[in-house]
Amino acid sequence: MENIAVIGVDVGGTKMTAALAKRSGQIVNLLRVQTKPEEGAKGGFKAICEMIWELLNEGRRKDLKVVRIGVGFGGPVNFEQGTVYLSHHVHGWENFPLKEEIEKHFGIVTPVDNDANAGTLGEWMFGAGKGIDDLLYVNIGTGIGGGIISGGKLIRGHRNLAGEIGHMTVKPDGPICTCGRKGCLEALASGSAIGREGTERFGRAMKSEEVFQLAEKGDETAKQIIAEAVDALAFAIGAAANLFNPKRVILGGGVSEAPEHLLVEPLRLRLLRYTLPQAAEGLEIVRAQLGYDAGIMGAIALAITTLDA
Ligand SMILES: [Zn+2]
Repeated sequence: MENIAVIGVDVGGTKMTAALAKRSGQIVNLLRVQTKPEEGAKGGFKAICEMIWELLNEGRRKDLKVVRIGVGFGGPVNFEQGTVYLSHHVHGWENFPLKEEIEKHFGIVTPVDNDANAGTLGEWMFGAGKGIDDLLYVNIGTGIGGGIISGGKLIRGHRNLAGEIGHMTVKPDGPICTCGRKGCLEALASGSAIGREGTERFGRAMKSEEVFQLAEKGDETAKQIIAEAVDALAFAIGAAANLFNPKRVILGGGVSEAPEHLLVEPLRLRLLRYTLPQAAEGLEIVRAQLGYDAGIMGAIALAITTLDA
């Protein structure tokens, strides 16, 4: 008898990862390719199809029957239609019917979601959120993405934009965000925001990692920059906690790898200021567990969750 399997595809701006996985989530084969942003959506779609072909062949050789292809896309997506709204980094993805095109090529049901929702499902099924029915996932990298599991279900909302904590307005007159508005959490606490503040206040090009390193050595300016980012995070996470009362907050992305005493510990304290005491009580703040694999495990989780639906 053939064994049920899925394919996960993580579509980034320049990096694509695809994997063949068993129903348990165990990866059987993994492919990574670099794409050129200047080749646009056309080049990206071609790369996606080539990886899927290769993994389907691999599945046949191993007597695995692929029944779902889950796609986590690095940009906003209309989940119901499986249409990409746009990519912030690569042209040509505007209104691209990704689900329909993949299903037409391969005849396999293909859920397509944004990478933040997929990442949330990944941590929930395979990482720091296992067994937790109410959780908030916050991915702090170049930008800030997020997702909500409430009552044991991923909350997508009316237009699949639920959980976009990165674009919660924290400081109405704050710096301009990638979305064009002012003072979003992403513009205050993402890796690029911390790097930008470092660059401005130290007067030389700086990345967020260096700001954390300087803070670790006791530099007051660096400590101040991080305290401001932590305050913004606490404000947004506190508001979310009051809204849907999660049990656990999972922090992922590059910035979350900063030392505990510089990020997670001060965040825990600061949250008390912005959260109802009863909601803050017992609210666990933990780091994500999937790290570098978050994207691909999220795409696999997306495929697997639709098997049970
Ligand atoms: Zn924004």
